[in-house]
Amino acid sequence: MTVKEEKILQTYFGYESFRPGQKETIDHISQLNNTLAVMPTGGGKSLCYQIPGLSLDGTAIIISPLISLMKDQVDALYSYGIPATYINSSLSTSEQQTRLKDIAANRYKFVYVAPERFESMAFVNTIKNIPLALVAFDEAHCISQWGHDFRPSYRSIVPNLKKLSNIPVFVALTATATEEVISDIKNLLHIETNHVVNTGFERKNLSFHIVKGKDKSTYVRSFLEEHKDESGIIYTSTRKQADSLYEQLTKRGVTVAKYHAGLSEDERKQAQAAFIHDEKSIMIATNAFGMGIDKSNVRYVIHYAMPMNIESYYQEAGRAGRDGEPSDCILLFSPQDIQLQKFLIEQSLMDDASKQQEYRKLQAMINYCHTHGCLTTQILDYFNDTVTHETCGRCSNCVERQERTDITEEAQMILSCVKRMGERFGVGMTAKVLKGSKDKKIKDFRLDQISTYGILSAYTEKGLTEWIHFLIAEQLLATEEGKFPTLKLNQNSIEVLKGKHSVWMFTAPIPVSEEADYQ
Ligand code: ADP
Repeated sequence: MTVKEEKILQTYFGYESFRPGQKETIDHISQLNNTLAVMPTGGGKSLCYQIPGLSLDGTAIIISPLISLMKDQVDALYSYGIPATYINSSLSTSEQQTRLKDIAANRYKFVYVAPERFESMAFVNTIKNIPLALVAFDEAHCISQWGHDFRPSYRSIVPNLKKLSNIPVFVALTATATEEVISDIKNLLHIETNHVVNTGFERKNLSFHIVKGKDKSTYVRSFLEEHKDESGIIYTSTRKQADSLYEQLTKRGVTVAKYHAGLSEDERKQAQAAFIHDEKSIMIATNAFGMGIDKSNVRYVIHYAMPMNIESYYQEAGRAGRDGEPSDCILLFSPQDIQLQKFLIEQSLMDDASKQQEYRKLQAMINYCHTHGCLTTQILDYFNDTVTHETCGRCSNCVERQERTDITEEAQMILSCVKRMGERFGVGMTAKVLKGSKDKKIKDFRLDQISTYGILSAYTEKGLTEWIHFLIAEQLLATEEGKFPTLKLNQNSIEVLKGKHSVWMFTAPIPVSEEADYQ
């Protein structure tokens, strides 16, 4: 780290010291090594390209799919006295031309553009002929087909950019990257392994919670009652769900904003502004809201239903607590959420291979909702985070569940039922057989003839379903990918069946009489 860069941090940005990973990232870039920075939301990724952008000669081009954020970034740089601009479709043609001329005259240190800008020859010709400091790909996971928000137009500009001879160094930044995404970005942008800076994903100020078996709208109402002066986001899975929750709360006199893709651009802009400026402290939204929203005092993010995968969940939940203060991320789970997500995957336009991939990710999300282990650890494991720690001590599983029950015997019954059903059926059918259901399908498949039929009839079908999901989440039972994942035994199941491995649960399965009222 040169003194020059530390000085930039202090004089331009007014910060005392670097955050984890910033120094290494800036170092690599300054030495003109293509660099990938993987840092959590709020980790300070912008500074990682802004400081070398200032210290290197020429203009830095920042490509970002987030048009809504460009203006904020540019305004922020201006407030530090740094000349910056953006070009996107929100500007008139003449304004775009003026800015292009200024770029050609080297008036700017930073230029923010969306990937689509590279389809304009006028733009490409302009940047071809000026000295460039670097090209940065913000939200770089969008260039990877393995990313949860793949944008083909983003990926397709990479080969053309590589043909420009005046780009000294490429920078990629993301908060969300699995091994597959990291390796894809590395290959695409020729980034060496030792130029990948991965600070780990843990956000120590966030506490994760799973809430099950409660009426969701009652839960939300009482939560809001208890957190009156705080700002928060409630994510729903569908526009319809957002509309209905918005209506319910508004009727009860709660002031809330609403944001989804079904609203006009004006309505969305207004809702976003009201939320950002704390005129309305609660935002009800679908996942259309929030990518890149830099509101620091969000104290909670509630997911009204389970999202499609852990990448999206962590990114959305991660909008809480950007200021580093303790914040809550609450997921309200109900079994119907699984059906909805499967439906959304099924009716999407993805090809079969991509659908399989989505089903695999969905299964990890389902497991998250059913594990009895530490929720933070479960998320970090998913991202192959190498930080070693046992449990976070903050999540609902760490805090709330104290008593454990030995359920080895019941687990053995479930596993042997799966075996006797020929490992050909999914969670729902298995629960029905264990319950001894009179469902016609059970008779059709002659599953009422097997010895485990009705073996756990003292429990409810929902309780048994929950239980099977728990065994999957704990990897004591495997599932085959797909729309209707079939249950399979794995090595751990065999150990349990042989009595070599006991199974403990924080709460006992739910007997008939005490069945929770799932909505
Ligand atoms: P990210 O893009 O990783 O989500 P940002 O770049 O938007 O995060 O930074 C999040 C916040 O942290 C911003 O308000 C930024 O000014 C602040 N920040 C970044 N680096 C530092 C630092 N070294 N010291 C203090 N604050 C910082």
